[in-house]
Amino acid sequence: VIVPPRAYAPDLLFAAGEVREGAALVVEGGRVSSVGAAPPGAEQVRLSGAAVLPGLVSAHGHAFQRALRGRPERRAAGGSDFWSWREAMYAVASRVGPDELESIARLAFLELARSGATAAGEFHYLHHDPAGRPYADRDELARRVIGAAREVGLRVTLLRAAYARAGHRRPAEGAQRRFVEASPDEAASAVERLAASHRGDPLVRFGLAPHSARACPAEWIAALAREAERRALPLHVHVSEQPAEVEAVRAEHGVSPVALLARCGALGPRTTAVHAIHVDAEDVEALGAARACVCACPLTERDLGDGVVPADRLLAAGARMALGVDSFGEVDLLAEARALEGHLRLVRLERGVLASRAAAATAAPAATSSAIPAPTHAPSPALFERLYGFASAGGMASLGWGGGALAPGEPADFVVISLDDPSIAGAGADDLVPAVVSSMARTAVRDVYVGGEPVVRDGRAVRVEESRAVARAVAALHRLRA
Ligand SMILES: [Zn+2]
Repeated sequence: VIVPPRAYAPDLLFAAGEVREGAALVVEGGRVSSVGAAPPGAEQVRLSGAAVLPGLVSAHGHAFQRALRGRPERRAAGGSDFWSWREAMYAVASRVGPDELESIARLAFLELARSGATAAGEFHYLHHDPAGRPYADRDELARRVIGAAREVGLRVTLLRAAYARAGHRRPAEGAQRRFVEASPDEAASAVERLAASHRGDPLVRFGLAPHSARACPAEWIAALAREAERRALPLHVHVSEQPAEVEAVRAEHGVSPVALLARCGALGPRTTAVHAIHVDAEDVEALGAARACVCACPLTERDLGDGVVPADRLLAAGARMALGVDSFGEVDLLAEARALEGHLRLVRLERGVLASRAAAATAAPAATSSAIPAPTHAPSPALFERLYGFASAGGMASLGWGGGALAPGEPADFVVISLDDPSIAGAGADDLVPAVVSSMARTAVRDVYVGGEPVVRDGRAVRVEESRAVARAVAALHRLRA
């Protein structure tokens, strides 16, 4: 059966880095075949009063943590920090079974899709049963999470975590028994098994994830880095989220977590360093020189009191950026992008912190011959396009897919937004992206397409029955809280 190309014709199209009026996004075989005029024979899909933009990508998250929503807040009345939050998270992690995990993950991914996301990176470290024994199918929980994402219709990269210990000379304790394995080879062989059984699904991929320099010894990190290199897989690792973690790594190895990754051969263009908050000048240089990606999760980092990702310095050094919803406490990648810049404004006492200085210079070429110098600190027009890119193409690169800009040849993962939503009403071709990045509410999301197929229509999921999915998740949440 030959399926004709489909030409989506919104009022405004943000594709290949440019906003165009009256242009069509032409999709064929799940990919963008062209941008501009609809070819003869194409099936026309007119999207009146709408704009089409690249799908959003969460490059880092733990779907089961959706079960914590509202819970640690109650405990935060007294002195609370990352470590007390972690206790609450472990309490949930120690109880969640395969059915609960699947139901809660389905709800989490449903909300993610409805927020305009098309792909998720799931950093998966729950492997065993609550007693720490492998399930009959060793990959039971990984399969449940992948299944939940695919049921909703999202593109997914399962980042299979390896976890060795509580810390240096400290064996796993409590809930961590569900995370730990005897060797890094277990993560590598799990990815091999899972990749083989998902070979028929082009929207599922895998990556390797030494959990952190605290939870993995240097030999594990080195072994997983070699395996990721050999198989060309993304390598994700939590890095320098909390000062105590940095101190523990310095005490054990005499170097920072970033320097340890470099020493282990784990710092390169396949690497995504999640958080990278408490990094010094040498760490920033090393991440930049390696062309590594840094995945910031500003809403979770703010909630947990982690600190602010120095994205301006990381970008200046050459690092790339992605964004993640991490704890699923708030599910909104545009809010993550807004917070990445917003937090830096509070710290640097400046606006447009993440505007590309190079772009600002080229935007005002006349300034060189004029008496008035170019305003080097004015927000450049590239700021919002750049932030949008972190939330789309940045995540696709981090998760091993590529694309994310709707250029010809890229996956047809896109979001259709309503231009008469009150949050962005009045936006035109010249300010569509600034309006979307700085102000768009999730109510503006009309449709979401992954690989050219609809996943959300008129704001509702189309592949799963929403009321049933929510009811199952609510039942699971109640069981966990009983
Ligand atoms: Zn995380």
